Amino acid sequence: MQTIQIKDKLFNQYITEAQIQTRIQEIVSELSEKYKDKNPVFVVVLRGAFMFASDILKKFNYPCEIEFVKLSSYTGMQSTGKINMLLPLKEEIVKNRDVIIIEDIVDSGLTMDFFVSYVKGLEPKSVSLISFLYKPENLQKDVKIDIVGFTIPDLFVVGYGLDFDGEGRNLSAVYQLAV
Ligand code: 5GP
Repeated sequence: MQTIQIKDKLFNQYITEAQIQTRIQEIVSELSEKYKDKNPVFVVVLRGAFMFASDILKKFNYPCEIEFVKLSSYTGMQSTGKINMLLPLKEEIVKNRDVIIIEDIVDSGLTMDFFVSYVKGLEPKSVSLISFLYKPENLQKDVKIDIVGFTIPDLFVVGYGLDFDGEGRNLSAVYQLAV
């Protein structure tokens, strides 16, 4: 097993780059089938979803627009439960459009519960949510995720866009905190 150190913590490799890329292909096939003639708006949630979104969007070979939002997130390994829009969504782009939110991970669900409701309030034609990772054990809100990359246990992970105190986002695989 490949183990890495970030700051004072050890992490074991949990999802390989090959597994991720295989899943990306499946997700893109599903999205292409559903949205090829819909000119959807992908809303990428920064910063954690940047790599996942980039891999998906490079392979989605149909007309689309791409927007970015930044929502406040964890500091260290604790969720505060308070969500702020640090980079807001351009509201006029969403109205009457098919919107696909791309998120890195749904954990408590507080972030996406807030954000999906917010987007729905902007009168889109439809809203769907794709999350690279999903930790069902921790869910506090009934968030409907249309496409999940991988369902994982309630352990802190880094890599493939996700950080630990600012580091590890550039890793092309996912690593789980060693316990
Ligand atoms: P939620 O609001 O669902 O509890 O949390 C969502 C956000 O928490 C994610 O977008 C992500 O930034 C952060 N998060 C949750 N679990 C993890 C984790 O295991 N690792 C990292 N790096 N971030 C996480």
